[in-house]
Amino acid sequence: MLIVMDMHAGPAEIEAVCNEIRAHGLIPHEMPGAQRTAIGITGNKGSVEAARFESMRGVMRVIHVTAPYKLVSREFHEDSSIVKVGNVPIGGTGFVVMAGPCAVESVGQIDEVAERIKKAGAHVLRGGAFKPRTSPYSFQGMGLEGLKILAAAREKHGLPIVTEAIDSESLDQVAEYADMVQIGARNMQNFSLLKRAGRCGKPVLLKRGLSATLDELLMAGEYIANEGNPNIVFCERGVRTFADHTRNTLDLSAVPFIQRMSHLPILVDPSHGTGKRNKVPPLSCAAAAVGCDGLIIEVHPHPDAAMSDGPQSVTPDQFDDLMKRVAAITTVVGRHMN
Ligand code: PEP
Ligand code: MN
Repeated sequence: MLIVMDMHAGPAEIEAVCNEIRAHGLIPHEMPGAQRTAIGITGNKGSVEAARFESMRGVMRVIHVTAPYKLVSREFHEDSSIVKVGNVPIGGTGFVVMAGPCAVESVGQIDEVAERIKKAGAHVLRGGAFKPRTSPYSFQGMGLEGLKILAAAREKHGLPIVTEAIDSESLDQVAEYADMVQIGARNMQNFSLLKRAGRCGKPVLLKRGLSATLDELLMAGEYIANEGNPNIVFCERGVRTFADHTRNTLDLSAVPFIQRMSHLPILVDPSHGTGKRNKVPPLSCAAAAVGCDGLIIEVHPHPDAAMSDGPQSVTPDQFDDLMKRVAAITTVVGRHMN
């Protein structure tokens, strides 16, 4: 249930409603908006008696939320949310690009890539220190050392960093070093990890599971929000289909769907979405045209020597060109790439 306060409701009236919610053994979530405050209620197994709240001072209306996700839903929070990663806002009319290699491999590799992507206009540096690889014999990432390399690159190049946590141990380390914690496709329904991400104090990039529906993605986000972390950014990264000309099938229809159902931002990952370097620039343009809040792209200085996901990584030169094309498209859809 959602309680919408009227425009003139003050802190005392809002607090009284929150106290009444707590008195019912439920949890209030205050959501200040541009015009008015809304208060979401969770913790209820069945329906909550609306009449008790409707008669309280400052309450404009009481809305029953029907979706199985609440805190992430637009029904609960009408205005689009902006999630800050370091000093970079994601959402609104901006367009954010995260870029970097699939995996952190060395100081030199990260330094080179960070310099190039920054010059090209990217806003956030990506790179995996803990890699969820399909084969146990593939490179598993540099771990803590990789996080330290990323953190040093943040200081040197002034780019916030996003990196993946694959379990609770790595999550604690990632939350300590990174500006944003990535939960990968393979862990989208690792509910204990999601809950922990909800308590980690950093914004979370939540990638769609390999064969997850969008309702499942939204409910995964709800696990994070329900632990008190509202700073969630969704990411469409392609799903498994019968098609074998690409690694995954990038589902760009996820963007308008998520934007209709949720107030949270959504990024597109054309690298994992296609698995092929030559398809990354056109799908980046298509994603920008469809109206997403930004992109996350794998860039490697020497893709053919990459220890992970080389075939889908673009070179810094290709990234320069891609950024120019994407920037031109964002202006057509009313966004701007700072
Ligand atoms: C990645 O971003 O490198 C990654 C492993 O992505 P996904 O979880 O989408 O496969
Ligand atoms: Mn990758």
